[in-house]
Amino acid sequence: MGLTKASTGARAQDRFINETKSENLTVALMGNPNVGKSTLFNYLTGMHQHTGNWPGKTVTGAVGNCKYKEKKITFVDLPGSYSLLCHSAEEEVARDFVCSGEADVTVVVCDATSFERNLILVLQTVEVSKNVIVCINLVDEAEKRGIKINKKILEERLNIPVITTSARSGKGVTKLLQQIVKIEKGTNKIKKKTIEDNEEKVKETVEMAQRIAGQSVTYKNENYLLRDRKIDRILTGKYAYLVMAVMLLGVFWLTITGANAVSEVLSRWLFKTEEWLDFALRAINIPKFLREMIVFGGYRMLVWVVSVMLPPMAIFFPLFTLLEDAGVLPRLAFNMDKCFKCCGACGKQALTMCMGLGCNAAGVVGARIIDSPRERLIAIVTNSLVPCNGRFPALISVICVFLITGTGIISQNVMPAVFLTGFIALSVLITLLASKILSRTFLKGEPSSFALELPPYRCPQIGKVIVRSIFDRTLFVLGRAVVSAIPAGLLLWLLANINVGGVSLFSHFCNAVSPLGNLMGLDGVILAAFILGFSANETVVPIMIMGYMSGNVLTDFGSLAQLRDMLILNGWDMVTAINIIIFFLFHWPCATTLITIYKETKSIKWTALSCALPTVIGVILCMVVNLTCNLLA
Ligand code: GDP
Repeated sequence: MGLTKASTGARAQDRFINETKSENLTVALMGNPNVGKSTLFNYLTGMHQHTGNWPGKTVTGAVGNCKYKEKKITFVDLPGSYSLLCHSAEEEVARDFVCSGEADVTVVVCDATSFERNLILVLQTVEVSKNVIVCINLVDEAEKRGIKINKKILEERLNIPVITTSARSGKGVTKLLQQIVKIEKGTNKIKKKTIEDNEEKVKETVEMAQRIAGQSVTYKNENYLLRDRKIDRILTGKYAYLVMAVMLLGVFWLTITGANAVSEVLSRWLFKTEEWLDFALRAINIPKFLREMIVFGGYRMLVWVVSVMLPPMAIFFPLFTLLEDAGVLPRLAFNMDKCFKCCGACGKQALTMCMGLGCNAAGVVGARIIDSPRERLIAIVTNSLVPCNGRFPALISVICVFLITGTGIISQNVMPAVFLTGFIALSVLITLLASKILSRTFLKGEPSSFALELPPYRCPQIGKVIVRSIFDRTLFVLGRAVVSAIPAGLLLWLLANINVGGVSLFSHFCNAVSPLGNLMGLDGVILAAFILGFSANETVVPIMIMGYMSGNVLTDFGSLAQLRDMLILNGWDMVTAINIIIFFLFHWPCATTLITIYKETKSIKWTALSCALPTVIGVILCMVVNLTCNLLA
């Protein structure tokens, strides 16, 4: 198609502005949320900006280049906006960019299935800027729904070029490029810096959009709307909470069942490779101390993290992305809206909470979709109250080892998922409670109103989703965990093998924290493992096991029964298991999340509160459970 994909760009918008002032054509991609801007952007630039079927997930502008007909075109994927009369920080970013005149062309991407609403932004953009192209995307969806848009009438009424595309398949994209390169650099004129924000003017624009849409759009088939309404009745109707719980259960069941099998094979294989590494290090005559530190410290920790973490992530992330792509997640937010409003927070927090299930750092960044700074802070501070994917494997291990006693398929596969769903429900409840407390204390204020668009249900692109979620999310999170696992393993080995007064430094540390650990129904080793696992939650269980093993090295367990026996030998009982689960759910965020919180809030105070809140909740809950069990015993 004569389109060559060129270099990748940078995410930061200010960097983009400095870099691209020269001879390039600069094209702003703007439009309502969820109209396919990122999909179009990715197609044009060959980049892999995350796409998803929920409004507002592009929270920063992304920049990428492509070459067409000897012209280098730089595309800026702006955050979704409904109007140039801004109601959120993201809309301001989009408006400021378009009104700054930095772009040579503004392409307003529209959804062909809800064109009338999209026209409002088109009309406003035409009012401020000269070089505007309308790109009507999702025409494949519109066709299926019997919606026809008359391009010719539109071009006449708007007096600007109109191109129809289907960004997913790339249909029409070449025509869009042909239209873009017709425009000469430097010919864009900014007619106005702002749009009048008065009722009269807004009414006039809406009426004009209605009139133009009435003349150019025809509807033949209402069946698709009916289908969406039917699915909505199930997902957002009377039994919405039950449906949500069943869905979560299904996702966890698939994750646990698949992960257990793969984990076992992976761990056996990876532990074997340790012998090869040991052999190779012996061959090059590396000192014994160093060799053991590398093999039994760094490498073993790496093996643990990879074999325990990779399988659940590789299953959970694609499932989560499929739900997101199909349009199910915004319905969850819609269902949770009332609960969050009652707690003085914003319904969109449910979305950031869902993102937190994948990775808390991602959930914290995702909070940018919340417009009110107060509500955004509530979402950020409470995000680590839902367990991220790094904590799932540990939760699953403790559940499987201690809470599951039967051997049948139901006990082994379904019950762990039921327990995990229950614990996630508990973390959602605590999130609501904490949001309520915050909105009454540090972050006082009334909940703001917001519009949450429920996008149409779309059949997800299964292959693409799986590939992208493995590369973009799974390997990214795993990479981060691996980077912290190796140094953590090396440090741990040193702590475990340097003796002071005949006792290892690690044991000294465990003894020091043991009084608090015992008060919480844990022990010194467990608490020490949580503290030393600060860099990545995935390292907590291996550290714990190492602490219990007399040889002070990490060990692989052939079966869960062996692991259970070892833990019982070290004084574990049901109360210990429950307290560990509680503390896994509620303790300080990992280092990456804390750094992200600081970057987002630019405040030590809010970062400290985000660290203290889950920790205090976890410590108090553990103490209460421990005390109650002791009194009842
Ligand atoms: P943005 O919020 O405007 O950036 O929208 P995205 O690019 O994230 O797209 C939202 C959803 O629409 C995703 O699920 C895309 O796969 C889907 N999508 C985008 N373009 C098309 C298209 O042309 N046809 C179809 N059927 N789906 C599309």
